Amino acid sequence: MLAMNFRGPYRVRAEQKPDPQIEHPNDAIVRVSRSCICGSDLHLYHGLVPDTRVGMTFGHEFTGVVEEVGPSVQNVKVGDHVLVPFNIFCGSCFFCQKELYSNCHNTNPEATAVGGIYGYSHTTGGYDGGQAEFVRVPLADVNPTVIPRDIHPDDAVLLTDACPTGYQAAEMGEIKQGDTVVVFGAGPVGIFAAKSAWLMGAGRVIVVDHVEYRLEFVKNFAQCEVVNFREVDDMAIHIKKMTDWLGADVCIDAVGCEAAGSAMQRLTGRYLKWQAGTTTALHWAINSVRKGGTVSIVGVYGPPYNLVPIGNALNKGITMRMNQASVKRHLPRLFEHIRAGNLEPRKIITHRVPLEEVSDAYHIFSSKLDNCIKTILVPPR
Ligand code: NAD
Ligand code: ZN
Repeated sequence: MLAMNFRGPYRVRAEQKPDPQIEHPNDAIVRVSRSCICGSDLHLYHGLVPDTRVGMTFGHEFTGVVEEVGPSVQNVKVGDHVLVPFNIFCGSCFFCQKELYSNCHNTNPEATAVGGIYGYSHTTGGYDGGQAEFVRVPLADVNPTVIPRDIHPDDAVLLTDACPTGYQAAEMGEIKQGDTVVVFGAGPVGIFAAKSAWLMGAGRVIVVDHVEYRLEFVKNFAQCEVVNFREVDDMAIHIKKMTDWLGADVCIDAVGCEAAGSAMQRLTGRYLKWQAGTTTALHWAINSVRKGGTVSIVGVYGPPYNLVPIGNALNKGITMRMNQASVKRHLPRLFEHIRAGNLEPRKIITHRVPLEEVSDAYHIFSSKLDNCIKTILVPPR
């Protein structure tokens, strides 16, 4: 089959590799119809995630048609159109019973925190991902969700990660009626966090980024205020000025670690002025929230970016919540929001690229070129 192949940082290619096989009685093989590139894939692409092995296929946001099922699979059948949450989970361990699917105990035995994730290095289990013609889906009785007939397939693929992650970011912010919510990052995750904040009662939503076309998009799509951080000297002071010197009730980090020497940094000569390290957004979130406020983190910080200004957090008595999103938990509510026209996920799709051109697609998304917000890779028919 044709699949995206990791060759090293900033080097990915579409190449032939063997089709995946049923390895356990509860596996399914899914023929991929849509597969997105995520901001999380950029951490792999930039070489920030340890144990990302040459030859791995990325892709944890995909939909497709069930092609084959193992002998014990009961809940999906050949021909079903499914969306597959990015978490691989068993559905029965201590954590899954609490709907903490992203923290499943059984799908990534070597880790103490995160469970299995498709195409996300051996630190999350070493599973191959869906930027390919076919993908092996383990634990197929619990992992895939059959796409309801009235949900558009482009909306469905955004329900595998970006949309529920933004939604969970807002939910973890514990937003109270009328709260001011600041979202750092106007990528897909930040865009859905901003949109979800309104659904949870926010009185004011402010999104911070420096990519003008993204700020323009989120301003219209999520009806929020925007701040270009390149026009601001001190982020915390700026947010305080905007909030009667209190600070925001809730800050959401939808950025995570940024690559040293990344395309984004090369694009801006003023990089050093605003980039104190590779954890700028997290610092800004902690420093911009009001005393007693809540910081919600969904931006990913792989080692060695695991550095927290814990003293500031302590002195402010803030609540910090964070997790990988537990996608499946949110699906019933998100289907309803989509039916009601509250979320419109597919409006963020800007690019639809043949899988053969995966190398260009990564470059464009990583460098924020060509007004790119979300790219769908389309495998050959
Ligand atoms: P993206 O790369 O498309 O968007 C990130 C945005 O942040 C970009 O527009 C960039 O210009 C902006 N940015 C960079 N530095 C900033 C700063 N200091 N302040 C404000 N904005 C800044 O990525 P995405 O797909 O939206 O994902 C965002 C983050 O969420 C990534 O870290 C990703 O790994 C993470 N993520 C987490 C989960 C989860 O379950 N927790 C799921 C999906 C993605
Ligand atoms: Zn993702």
